[in-house]
Amino acid sequence: KKSRKKPHQPALLGPVRPRVKVLLPLPLDGAYDYGVPEGMAVPGPGSFVEVPFAGRELRGVVWDGAPDPTLSEGRLKNILGTLIVPPMTDSLRRFIDWVAAYTMAPPGAVLRMAMSVPSALEPPGQQAGWRLSPAGEAARAGGGGYRLTEGRRSVLDIMLPGEIRAGADITEEAGVSAAVLRGMVDQRLVEPALLPRRTAFPSPDPEHPGPELRPEQEEAAASLRNLVGERRFGVTLLAGVTGSGKTEVYLDAVAECLRQKRQALVLLPEIALSAQWLERFQERFGCEPALWHSELGGRRRRNTWRAVAEGEAKVLVGARSALFLPFPDLGLIIVDEEHETAFKQEEGVIYHARDMAVVRARFSQAGCVLVSATPSLETLNNAEGGRYTALSLPRRHGGAGLPEITVLDLKRVPPERGRFISPPLVEAVNETLARGEQAMLFLNRRGYAPLTLCRTCGHRMRCPNCTAWLVEHRAQRRLQCHHCGHTEPTPPSCPECGAENSLTAIGPGVERVQEEAALLFPEARRLVMASDTIPGPAAAAEAARQVAEREVDLIIGTQIVAKGWHFPGLTLVGVVDADLGLAGGDLRAAERTVQLLHQVAGRAGRAEHPGRVLLQSWIPDHPVMQALISGDLDTFMAEEAAARRPGGWPPFGRLAAVIVSSEDERAADRVARDLGLSAPGGEGVQVLGPAPAPLSLLRGRHRRRLLLKARRDVAVQPLLWDWLSRVEVPSAVRVQVDVDPVSF
Ligand code: ADP
Ligand code: ZN
Repeated sequence: KKSRKKPHQPALLGPVRPRVKVLLPLPLDGAYDYGVPEGMAVPGPGSFVEVPFAGRELRGVVWDGAPDPTLSEGRLKNILGTLIVPPMTDSLRRFIDWVAAYTMAPPGAVLRMAMSVPSALEPPGQQAGWRLSPAGEAARAGGGGYRLTEGRRSVLDIMLPGEIRAGADITEEAGVSAAVLRGMVDQRLVEPALLPRRTAFPSPDPEHPGPELRPEQEEAAASLRNLVGERRFGVTLLAGVTGSGKTEVYLDAVAECLRQKRQALVLLPEIALSAQWLERFQERFGCEPALWHSELGGRRRRNTWRAVAEGEAKVLVGARSALFLPFPDLGLIIVDEEHETAFKQEEGVIYHARDMAVVRARFSQAGCVLVSATPSLETLNNAEGGRYTALSLPRRHGGAGLPEITVLDLKRVPPERGRFISPPLVEAVNETLARGEQAMLFLNRRGYAPLTLCRTCGHRMRCPNCTAWLVEHRAQRRLQCHHCGHTEPTPPSCPECGAENSLTAIGPGVERVQEEAALLFPEARRLVMASDTIPGPAAAAEAARQVAEREVDLIIGTQIVAKGWHFPGLTLVGVVDADLGLAGGDLRAAERTVQLLHQVAGRAGRAEHPGRVLLQSWIPDHPVMQALISGDLDTFMAEEAAARRPGGWPPFGRLAAVIVSSEDERAADRVARDLGLSAPGGEGVQVLGPAPAPLSLLRGRHRRRLLLKARRDVAVQPLLWDWLSRVEVPSAVRVQVDVDPVSF
């Protein structure tokens, strides 16, 4: 009979090698044991090492915990080398383990987010160079009793103590072959070191003059300075209407952190569009901060990673993944727009960066400041319970009033047939433009039309891979799925009945509003701001410039205009469809709609010009509209809380979603049903479902969802582990857990 085992390897002779555990950036169960070859110093916990794994060479980190002594010597592979970068700190390792345990992701999958290590390994990679070892310095000075060849002598002569140079540089100047240098490395006269980085990371100057803070700002700033000064963990909510000067206040806390000689991290929800924020940082501190986001190229990435690890990058602004950077001494984390759902990562390791920021701050003995004009119910609840300190700036800077918000009842003032902008909104835009001010039309929907149907047979164009309609993008003459990216050319005739010129756009997208605006306001210079037209930082900076320099009269935008922009000349915001976010059964829909529309409204009017906001709605009496009109968001949130508390919905209870998905619908249903049958119960625990997930078909996979709801004092992870282990899952089915889902 054929054995599937590999041929038996003879046990190595000689002393037993030291062993270490190495965590690899892969979704594996845990850390693996490796041997340390003779002559290599045993790398301590946190060291970055290269190891063989499944026929490849991989980088990992020496992890905590004792290696398995029963693993036979013969099966133990050796570490290949240690990377010459600062080891990963205890606090980051503990944070990674914590995130893995909380989100139920494999620790290696979490580690992967922390691995942009420059390749500086023995033997040298990209950024590695050489310097004299202490022995080399002694030999250079004539000590140590070395007998040196002429080649080695000339290498010593040209290498100054402390200087780090690339190998090719050394051999060329000394006129020797690479073998000579290699021999000196073996002899430990020369040792590897990282070449100096070519990109410098300038230090922001905390004493660079900032604006003089108003008394109420100063009071909040003093509290934050205090938080930072104590050099211990604490969370503060900094609330206050848009334009009240929160940013200036938290930049003051960043300055205090710099004075403390610790590093600061600022998380922004849309870092790629934050050109204006960067400008303000530059004004406040005299230089740019380090940046971290998904569009950074490989070299910039590794350089930034290293600058953070070496403590040279003092302030880093980034997207959520910046939480996993190797700050050796993090003193402050700011989460701006903390209520934003963009902080939730929905793929791979499913985590909420706002919540994890609090945890990272705790492990780092750092302060954490959550900033928002419309804080999430979670954060408000933590503030109310005394777990977070609450600060608030109630007034706008410069005496500017909040914009006046009015609802236009579309039942009373309907737009013309086939149009989407009602007569009073048309008039308001005309008035604004006539005064030489800027206006904005807001619609949170990309493309031309959200639905295309055939007038002859009623056929609707839908995505072949998702439960979603295809969205027309007229400029490209294509239909697009906004969930999976599927696109196809807009067909000339109905694919179902063949009728010519029968496909009709139903409902508006931002492109269609722009088309209508072109008819209504032909003189106005218009700018569409959507992710299709503003894909990255350069386009964002250019858009900001055009608006600031008044090259634009009318902005037509999706939700990307809601965040962080400062448009001083903008005095009117028209919300084309204020009801849009309220459709569907999501319990959080109202909270999110209020947050988004309040944020959009906040773009209108600053110091010199009061602003005006018109909300077009079919349901003007809805509590969301009423809250926006009155501006009394506190009461609205209190009512939201009161509605969620009795049912034990978050934040008053815990929630985890279990998503079952498969290309095979019956297989998905079977696993979902089995999960339903073996659902945990007991005191304070309830399982809802299975039911079709909100997108029941996504990227060709059928999705079912079960919700585990538990009292706050129940630890849901052990329950979930136990539950999932009791159900057999065939390989065609994937089961994902989303702890604290953002929609429910
Ligand atoms: P928020 O972050 O609350 O929306 P900002 O910090 O962006 O508010 O402040 C709104 C505007 O007021 C910005 O243009 C900012 O530069 C200005 N501002 C805020 N505080 C001051 C201050 N103390 N002195 C001068 N300008 C200020
Ligand atoms: Zn799709």
